[in-house]
Amino acid sequence: MIPGPIEVSPEVRAAHDGPPPGHLAPSLVEAYGRSLEQMRAVWRAPASAQPFMVAGSGTLAMDMAAANLVSPGERVLVVGTGYFSDRMVEILRRYEAEVAMVEAPPGEAVPLPEVQAAIRRTTPKAVFVTHVDTSTGVRMNAQAVAGLAHEAGAMTVVDGVCATAAEPLSMMDGEVDIYLTGSQKAIGLPAGLAMLVVSERAMAARDTLRRPPPYYLDYHQWRPIMRAYEARDKAYFATPATNLVQAATVGLAQILADDFAGKTGIEARTARHAHVACAMEGAWRAYGLEHLCASPDDRGVTLSALKYPTGVGPDLVAKIGAHGVAVAGGLHPSCKAEYFRVGHMGWATTQPGLLEKTVEAVGRGLRDSGVEADVEGAKAALLETWSHA
Ligand SMILES: *Cc1c(COP(=O)(O)O)cnc(C)c1O
Repeated sequence: MIPGPIEVSPEVRAAHDGPPPGHLAPSLVEAYGRSLEQMRAVWRAPASAQPFMVAGSGTLAMDMAAANLVSPGERVLVVGTGYFSDRMVEILRRYEAEVAMVEAPPGEAVPLPEVQAAIRRTTPKAVFVTHVDTSTGVRMNAQAVAGLAHEAGAMTVVDGVCATAAEPLSMMDGEVDIYLTGSQKAIGLPAGLAMLVVSERAMAARDTLRRPPPYYLDYHQWRPIMRAYEARDKAYFATPATNLVQAATVGLAQILADDFAGKTGIEARTARHAHVACAMEGAWRAYGLEHLCASPDDRGVTLSALKYPTGVGPDLVAKIGAHGVAVAGGLHPSCKAEYFRVGHMGWATTQPGLLEKTVEAVGRGLRDSGVEADVEGAKAALLETWSHA
């Protein structure tokens, strides 16, 4: 239950575990083409947007987005909410972009008026925002940021590694230009795929770059391959992670077949994540645990970043682990010894037994640390909310 890599469904595992298909095998061509179509549906992207699925991690998707968008000296604005926005800054500097930041203290979102003022002040080519910052659990209203950027004529790149398929976002109105993720977090696949959907406008920005992006990152290398697979034709530029592609189409199909609270597909999936976050919150409250992000409106639904109670420190993570559930320590450099993180995204959000086991392990870990914890009360609180879907 760390915030990625996460547990995947048995069906995704089975799809991944077959003999390695060739990249030109008809079954692989079909799985690749279908995955790209499914990505448009999960991303809520128009037919004109280009999906990419490339072997690599979320960081590769960040790198591709930056490398194909900015030329040296161009101004960009990064909305800083933690560890991964700092990474985005580093990547953009490699491409010699002129990077401005508008930041919040760890555990807080950047207020939208501040984002708007920074956009007006810096007139950036593009605004980069982390949808859910995995280091702190902070969520930005990425859709609203994209609206503000659009008004000012800027593009928007959203890092959705810990959010895509779990937090609502739409590319339909053309305001979000790039929405990127890695396969091992909210989208619920094994690690190893960089996945991003790019608007027509952001695709066109690649054509006017003053120097080409690094070879493996270049949209111009990958777009013909993605188009070929979508047309169910064979293609080769660099060998895809073929087992992962097989797993991807099964996992994306499961998202699109979700059914929850009277909704279906991606709407059901995001509603399910919100519901599970609420159920987990009931359990945390029973333990008296507090979030690093104090404002409920600014918390992502994919993980809980919880402060250690007084007298408890980072060894709580191992104590919880001793009860059979892996959770993660803090990640933000300025306060990582003060909190721990529990992921609740992807397949796990369909498994009340797994959530219950997690709540129980956290409670027993707290008890082993000398803190009183009402394990039965916390489990009851979880299941009470769970049953009111
Ligand atoms: C994990 C993460 C990344 C980096 O992804 P990798 O797959 O580890 O390269 C980037 N952004 C966010 C928000 C993340 O959670």
